[in-house]
Amino acid sequence: MSEGSRTGPLRRGVDATDRSRVAAVLGVVVADADAALVLDPRGRAFQRLEWQGDSALDAVLALHRWGDPACCADRRLEDLVSDAVLAPAAVNAGLPDLLDWPAGPERLADTVETCVGAGWHVGAQAAATVVRRLVHDAVDVVEVGPRPELADRAAALRCDGLGPPAHVGAYVCELSAADHAYARDDLADADEGRLSDVRALLLDGERVLQVAEDLGWLPGCGGPPRHVLDHVQARVGLVAVTAGLEAGVLEAGRLW
Ligand SMILES: [Zn+2]
Ligand SMILES: [Zn+2]
Repeated sequence: MSEGSRTGPLRRGVDATDRSRVAAVLGVVVADADAALVLDPRGRAFQRLEWQGDSALDAVLALHRWGDPACCADRRLEDLVSDAVLAPAAVNAGLPDLLDWPAGPERLADTVETCVGAGWHVGAQAAATVVRRLVHDAVDVVEVGPRPELADRAAALRCDGLGPPAHVGAYVCELSAADHAYARDDLADADEGRLSDVRALLLDGERVLQVAEDLGWLPGCGGPPRHVLDHVQARVGLVAVTAGLEAGVLEAGRLW
């Protein structure tokens, strides 16, 4: 997480009225630099925050689905975050009224992700609040906090129990890698394509397994690389569920 957006908004500034208008829709007070990107959703800083918010949105929803598997079991996670879903959700939440100019459905959907990114800069609970307001009202802020009662640690790290924790862990790793790329000084001007390239390099399975070995994270079960990678992701997923999303992101951050 960082103190607001990098490279700067196009908008000239945010005043007290703007600040409270944004907070009324998002449900949280965000950094002025990020609020400016919500109000005037264009330019590189906007796209960078949208890119980071996309990863935060996925991670929040993955944690929601772990804790409440019946809630949206009939939909894939990708279906919950498609433009076709996000744009009308943004309209319902009153997001268009915030914008300095009229945005089409695609830009509105992008702006929802930027809002989640702005929330994530404040913290996991703020991100979950924005997701609840703008994307999926069944999301609860407790879902990104510590929930030790939800996971059987031993079962979640057994070779045949890796599925659910590894699924969540993959999204948490992606968010952690996105945060890492977003915060890197040498990438402060990079567009989202370059950021995605760097994130893909960080998440490369072979590289992750090498670092995980140095960290002593490998299970020693003798499984193939894909399975051992599941162990690594399950470890991160388990931390995210039992100790909270921010702790999970920190744990994954040891891999970068
Ligand atoms: Zn749900
Ligand atoms: Zn194994």
